[in-house]
Amino acid sequence: MPSTLFSKARKRLKEAAKYIEVDPDVMVKLSHPQETTVASLNVRMDDGSLKSFRAWRCRYDDTRGPTKGGIRYHPKVNMDEVVALAFWMTFKSAVVNLPFGGGKGGVAVDPHKLSHGELERLSRAYVRAFARVLGPDRDIPAPDVYTNAMIMGWMAHEYSTIVGHPSPAVITGKPIVLGGSLGRESATGRGGYYILRHLEKTFGLTPKKTRVAFQGFGNASIHCALPLFDDGYKIVGVSDSVSALYDADGMDPHKVLAHKEKTGRVAGAPTFGKACEMSNEELLVSDCDVLVPGALENQIVDDNAAQIKARYVLELANGPTTPLADKILAQRGVVAIPDILANAGGVTVSYFEWAQNRAGYYWGEDEVQERLRKFIEPEAEKIWRIKQDKAVDMRTAAYVLALDRIGTAVSARGTRKFFKH
Ligand code: GLU
Repeated sequence: MPSTLFSKARKRLKEAAKYIEVDPDVMVKLSHPQETTVASLNVRMDDGSLKSFRAWRCRYDDTRGPTKGGIRYHPKVNMDEVVALAFWMTFKSAVVNLPFGGGKGGVAVDPHKLSHGELERLSRAYVRAFARVLGPDRDIPAPDVYTNAMIMGWMAHEYSTIVGHPSPAVITGKPIVLGGSLGRESATGRGGYYILRHLEKTFGLTPKKTRVAFQGFGNASIHCALPLFDDGYKIVGVSDSVSALYDADGMDPHKVLAHKEKTGRVAGAPTFGKACEMSNEELLVSDCDVLVPGALENQIVDDNAAQIKARYVLELANGPTTPLADKILAQRGVVAIPDILANAGGVTVSYFEWAQNRAGYYWGEDEVQERLRKFIEPEAEKIWRIKQDKAVDMRTAAYVLALDRIGTAVSARGTRKFFKH
């Protein structure tokens, strides 16, 4: 059987279980998604025709709390990917010790080909199809690839209409005026920024001498690149889905962002020296100290892992590194800060949004950011210590921490040791 994204993701579980005592019942429970729902969303198009889109929602495991995770709109999304992403969410929530399990959703669609009206009808249809499994105490979606605050606002509204009262806590990442949290938009990138800055001394990095390349210049990468640049780091590369821009003398990401907002592309943005345009594949193996894959999964793969020049990889995307590539990086002494830690800032501020919605009391942006830093730094520290103690890579260490937390929760309801006569 070909190795699917989910089967690759599940390998991490077995790897982590080698380093801690885990009851076999825990492994049984965590090896299978709890509930995966499939639907066809029939949407009226602007030209009057009816089009059908495949959609999924997976609630992977809710032992530690309601399932939590984004909804992805992408033409290539499929059930295997959604389940793998829901698995990662389960471990991500546990890494940051949030009272959530993991879930994920997806629609096989290219949202750029839809009008605004079609996009709204599709998003509302998603909620109608999955309303039975959603809910502030059951399953709480959020933005992911190609979904945004406005879509979350439509979805929260559709759900509220179904249940008959405003229910903002059913979805996070909403527009601020509709119950969103300040600081949610920037949270994924900012979380990565806090982690890199926190581990800077441990890694022996000096900001001015550290060259960072971002594959992808979407929401996550932008909010990591801006504060890193403001703190003196040198941003040498950025990319979009078409091409990459590299300059060994660096660039100001504020200016790249302004250019991208105007033209839709990073190519042609001003840089400090002589810029060159390259492909995304070339950017991954370009000269830099920290490589930040910030787009989709499967970027650092078996074929290019040996050519990566960076000494550190900060995984802002979910699942950018394959298991074999991971081994190659580790053998070469490249430290990968794993996705379930590096991009956990997003779900952490989602948790804050959910908590604020339920309390009906809202925090200022500084408070959100300070709380995010306080949530994420100690976990980065713990993971680094586990890595050192057990002589494993950071990813295994993060899975060990998460598995310990989820396993303890599963075991608290009794395992075979308790029930056996
Ligand atoms: N889609 C984001 C992730 O993969 C955010 C999930 C959330 O906020 O629930 O972490």
